[in-house]
Amino acid sequence: MTSPAKTTAATAARPEWGKAKRIVVKIGSALLADRATGALKSEWLTSLVDDVAVLHEQGKDVVLVSSGAIALGRHTLKLPKGPLELEQSQAAAAVGQIGLAHAYQELARERGFVTAQILLTLGDTEERRRYLNARHTIETLLSLGAIPVVNENDSVATTEIRYGDNDRLSARVASMVSADCLVLLSDIDGLYTAPPGSNSKAERLDVVTAITPEIEAMAGDAGTELSKGGMKTKVEAARIAIQGGTHMVITSGKVQHPLRAISEGAPCTWFLASSDPVTAKKRWIAGQLVPKGHVYVDAGAEKALAAGKSLLPAGVSRIDGSFDRGDAVTIRAADGRELGRGLIAYAKDDAERIIGKKSSEIAEILGVSRCDELIHRDDMALSRQGSQ
Ligand code: GLU
Repeated sequence: MTSPAKTTAATAARPEWGKAKRIVVKIGSALLADRATGALKSEWLTSLVDDVAVLHEQGKDVVLVSSGAIALGRHTLKLPKGPLELEQSQAAAAVGQIGLAHAYQELARERGFVTAQILLTLGDTEERRRYLNARHTIETLLSLGAIPVVNENDSVATTEIRYGDNDRLSARVASMVSADCLVLLSDIDGLYTAPPGSNSKAERLDVVTAITPEIEAMAGDAGTELSKGGMKTKVEAARIAIQGGTHMVITSGKVQHPLRAISEGAPCTWFLASSDPVTAKKRWIAGQLVPKGHVYVDAGAEKALAAGKSLLPAGVSRIDGSFDRGDAVTIRAADGRELGRGLIAYAKDDAERIIGKKSSEIAEILGVSRCDELIHRDDMALSRQGSQ
């Protein structure tokens, strides 16, 4: 049962914000595009990118999930007001996305950092192999110090295969990259007990620790004219985020420097995850997956695993089953004892060829080396006693 604290005054920033090392920020269309003219709100965007630059300088990883392609493109194409046909939004997105990416690129360049465009469709986050590829690209960009700017690939996504709102997309991206914190910059500063516009008794919740039916009931349905997501998709995003071990915060983006405002204690609603992303992922690996195969390791590897290391191909003597890259497998000792479970980084055919070999030989054997580990430490959950 959630018993949220309710206040409306600004308080000190929550410790989760200061501690976050990897932050995903979702920027809603209504913040980026002027409602009357549809033009990009450059001054506001500049203040946001200033804030991103500060986080970047502090050594934090930042991923932006930016809406606005359709809102900006429909203006350029002079499309009528009101709901658009799917084809019209696809066309609008194709036009608007270029301008959007360009705006981020220029502002970042002036501040000495690099942005990278990532356009995702639903399949890229829901289908295991594509999910891993997307994750790998974003991780690589972050390790190179670039800031990925993500949006849905609206110009090719059709009704059945699209998110349609960037609230849930940003939550999937946040759990994909094991972010500590997801910020939803919105046109409202949090979740209210009732719609604040029509109910004077409505109070903003400071903290939510579980998505109860009561919380769901508070999230109405309405979105604004420009953005797709209302409070309902934000609460759905919160569910995805906290399940993945990511804290989520909804705050108003209608102020200049909205991220700095969080540090200064701006009003917001925090949805707190009960565990960190790695623990959440390990729990998920341990509990929910039907293993597609088995990996048998030698005594040296068994020891290395117990000491907290990743599983390298060199320590594997045998594999069986039929699995693709990213599938769940059990990790077994030579005598068959289950040591744990993990998500394997190579498909069966490739794994067959590299087991027993040094990681430095992978590239030569396969023609390509994705990673040194067969199962990365973070993608593995060991059984408690190393047996069952
Ligand atoms: N992906 C859409 C766009 O860039 C926005 C979706 C949303 O408003 O959440 O225009």
